[in-house]
Amino acid sequence: MEPRLNIPVGSSPIHRVGLGTDLHRLEPGDRLRLGGIDIPFDRRLCGHSDGDVVIHAVIDALLGAVGLPDIGERFPDSDPKYRGADSRTLLAQVVAEVEASGHVLANLDLVIEAERPKLSPHKERIRQSLAELLKASPDRIGVKAKSREGVDAVGRGEAIACTAVVGLTATSR
Ligand code: MG
Repeated sequence: MEPRLNIPVGSSPIHRVGLGTDLHRLEPGDRLRLGGIDIPFDRRLCGHSDGDVVIHAVIDALLGAVGLPDIGERFPDSDPKYRGADSRTLLAQVVAEVEASGHVLANLDLVIEAERPKLSPHKERIRQSLAELLKASPDRIGVKAKSREGVDAVGRGEAIACTAVVGLTATSR
């Protein structure tokens, strides 16, 4: 896909920064939806939508960067419309809102925390998936995976967490 911002990463002035975090519990299942891709696993992430903790953190980072209400207000879990929603669709709406606000992604950096499964083999696919969803070049996206060394709910394999930071460049103001 053609990068939307056709200037070198190092020369993009950052006009806005956003931070998003999320955590979802795991339950028995047959696949893990992370960053818009499916990873074979014996557990799935619980949630009102598809539970994609990575996309939810990215959405909150984008919304925060442009000063919009957070994901819970934007896509309330009390609204049956979002039951089982594909988070990629929600992200597409937010990307359109970011564009409408006069900004484009300069970069995204994220840390996914999971005890199991090992995410290293899947990081590149997650990066490519997010690049496509964000209409950005993959070299603007960093995906890191960590464990929590057996400590707390994530460390015990009961949940997966994600932290995302985005930088945005102004396109029209
Ligand atoms: Mg969530």
